[in-house]
Amino acid sequence: MTDTNDIPKKRKSIPAKTKAKLQKEIKSECPFCGNEDVGHFQVHHIDENPSNDVFSNLLLICPICHSKITKGDINSEVVLQKKISLSQENTTNQNHTTTKVNNFNAPINNAVVGDNNAVNINTTVVKKATKKVVNKYPEGSIGSDIHKKNYISYLITRYNEYKEWEVGKENMSYGFFGSKLKERFKVGKDSSIYHVPLERFEELADYIKSRVDKTVLAKTKGKEHKNYSSFSEYIEQTIGDNYTQNSS
Ligand SMILES: [Zn+2]
Repeated sequence: MTDTNDIPKKRKSIPAKTKAKLQKEIKSECPFCGNEDVGHFQVHHIDENPSNDVFSNLLLICPICHSKITKGDINSEVVLQKKISLSQENTTNQNHTTTKVNNFNAPINNAVVGDNNAVNINTTVVKKATKKVVNKYPEGSIGSDIHKKNYISYLITRYNEYKEWEVGKENMSYGFFGSKLKERFKVGKDSSIYHVPLERFEELADYIKSRVDKTVLAKTKGKEHKNYSSFSEYIEQTIGDNYTQNSS
């Protein structure tokens, strides 16, 4: 595998061994669109810091999905959730081979990525890294309120999960719903859905919920089934999770 051609000059090249592991993680297909053109895959830095090459910060994706992430059509929370679910899948699969767990809480220099190690991603670490991204949203926008921003992300992710069940991973366009939302809430091309003013938070949340409820999966599950948490439940769960994670 040669990886010297298409790496922008600012970036160090990712070791071939790491790339191989990243490719294995996504089972050699783009985790967003299922593209299998391995030769063109790019390494995405989840925290948008090109020098943070720790394994938990890297995700291999196709160039099309990469540019969608850059433009915000696939939002950073969706990307983070994808990495977490991939790492959880792999951890479960590898439980019989090893018990060694890399703790990404440790200083980056101490993190050793081997071939058969279970990967334990501490989500709070990555979330801390993505906070930087949050700061680019102006005062008074949904993006300026971390909890409201995360809740909107959560709802969009939920919609995508439900939709993926309906259309299949290979037909799923993760950016489509986001760009429809941007149109509906009149967000400019270079802005993201988190630029919507805070006053419209409930309206936006209610709209996404109504779209989740209209998916085939929601209808299959039936009216009694709860398809998502309310904002206050979400806050409770998130804060609860952080407390448990800190105990490790
Ligand atoms: Zn893709």
